[in-house]
Parts: sequence; C-alpha cells; structure tokens
Amino acid sequence: MTTPHEPTTPTMVAPQVLLGNHLKALKLPTFAREYEKVAMESAQDRADYPRYLLRLCELERIDRERRNVERRIRMARFSQIKSLDTFDFAAQPSLNKSLVLELARCEWIEKRQNCIALGPSGTGKTHVALALGLAACQKGHSVAFTTAAALVHELMEARDERRLRALQKHLNTVKPLVVDELGYVPFTAVGSELLFEVFNQRYERGSTLVTSNVPFDEWTSVFGSERLTGALLDRLTHHVHILEMNGESFRLATSKKAQRRTGQAPNVMTKTSNEGADLKS
Ligand code: ADP
Ligand code: MG
Repeated sequence: MTTPHEPTTPTMVAPQVLLGNHLKALKLPTFAREYEKVAMESAQDRADYPRYLLRLCELERIDRERRNVERRIRMARFSQIKSLDTFDFAAQPSLNKSLVLELARCEWIEKRQNCIALGPSGTGKTHVALALGLAACQKGHSVAFTTAAALVHELMEARDERRLRALQKHLNTVKPLVVDELGYVPFTAVGSELLFEVFNQRYERGSTLVTSNVPFDEWTSVFGSERLTGALLDRLTHHVHILEMNGESFRLATSKKAQRRTGQAPNVMTKTSNEGADLKS
C-alpha cells in the first residue's frame, strides 16, 4: 500500500510486456515464444539483426504451417489417422502402387479429378482413402471425410431443417470430399437424389474420392434407379482414377497368420459392429 507521502512512480510497462501484446495482436505466437532464445543464439553466432529476424520469421512460418495442417486434419473429421507409410503394398498386389503414390502428390485434386477405390471388404480401401485425405491436408487442401450413409443422413437432416443449401455450399468448398463405404447400405429414393446432387454439384468443380465394395454394374441396386445411377456414374467417372483392390482381406490374412502362430482358429464372430458389414461382401 502506498501512503500519500510516498513519491509515486509512473507506471512503467516493461518492453517485454508491450512486445508480447503486439506479437499477440499480430498473431505471431512463435515470435513471442522464441525471440529471447533466438536473440541469445544470434548473439553467440554474431548474427546481425536481419539474420536474427530471418530466423524468427522462418520459425513462425514453419510453426504456422504445422498448425494449419493440424487444423485441416481436425476439420476433415477422419475416422482414424492412417498414412501410406503404414500401408503394406506387397500385401495388396492388385493395387497400382505407383498410381497411389502419384495420387498422394495431390495433382489430381488441383485438376479436379476423381478417384474411386473398388474392392471387397478388408482390402485397405478405407486405409488408402484416409491416407490420401491426410496427404491432401498436408498439401494445403480442405478435406472432408465421411461415409456414404452418414452423408446421406446429414443431407436428409439438413433438408428437414431447411439448411440443405448451406450444407451443399459447405460441401462444395471441400476438396476432396471423401465418401467411404458407398454400397454397404442401399439408399432411399430421397437419399439417392440428395447424394446425386452432391456429386452433380462437384462435377468438374471439386475432387471426390469414393470407396465401394460394389462393382459399378451393381450400383443401381444401391441407388435404386437406373437413370440416376447412369447419370451419377457418368459424372463421377468422367475424369477418374480407379484403384482396384481385389486381393485378400488384410484382416483375414492377419488373423490367419495369428492362427498359424497360436494354432487357434480365427474368431470371425468377434468383429466389431462396424466391421459386421464385412459379411455382406
Ligand atoms: P476396407 O475399407 O477395404 O474394408 P480397411 O482399409 O478398413 O479395408 O482395412 C482393414 C484393416 O486392415 C485396417 O486396419 C487397415 O489399416 C488394415 N489394412 C488393410 N490393408 C492393409 C495393407 N495393405 N497394409 C497395412 N494395413 C492394411
Ligand atoms: Mg472400409
């Protein structure tokens, strides 16, 4: 407590505090965190002021890019994080490895092309779709990952709540839109039309990646209408890369291997509810 007789000192704000405020306002958190440490390093190395500032700018840009990638990954809502590093191409010889690696460079997204992964359950379609989605996030694209059933559900809900336009508009901003598991559940007529409209609006405007366990000639059974399926396939396959994955189920191969190791039969009935759909294909 100061008494009235004590001389009052003018409030001095330390330059560090002011600098901290400015850097916060300018959205330069890495500058704020690192400037003292980098100043000491620069003094030790006898680096001049431009070099000192250059080091800080580089750190800020690296950190900002990392934060942006993390944000895009969060926004994409991947069911899991999977990358091509953990994909064993030797286990899936039917898959065109060089095409997958080329797709991971993301030029197909810049060219607004599509990609469809086809094959039975367990062959790694979702893994590859997640990995390509992740690569797209890392290259600066705004990705959305969903299953066909969840997307149709979301579209129907949006339609009922009179916000279908807003959802369609949002979907048009993501590139690529990854639609996993098309074909596991057949759609109602309304569901089919809503999904068709999504693909229609993306045609030649934004990339779509679809995975399906159903060959093209059976897609009518998923969409219920031959006319609509024809129009949809026409758009989706106009500029398309097809990934055929017709090998053995990786899950089955893994449990067979485990069985050989332990001498026990694989327990096919202990699949999770999510994987229960495998039994369809
Ligand atoms: P699908 O979507 O075709 O049903 P998934 O991608 O879900 O198959 O694969 C099932 C599981 O097996 C996942 O955990 C996936 O990561 C793994 N998997 C599938 N194929 C491979 C592979 N070639 N190399 C490594 N893991 C794989
Ligand atoms: Mg899958």
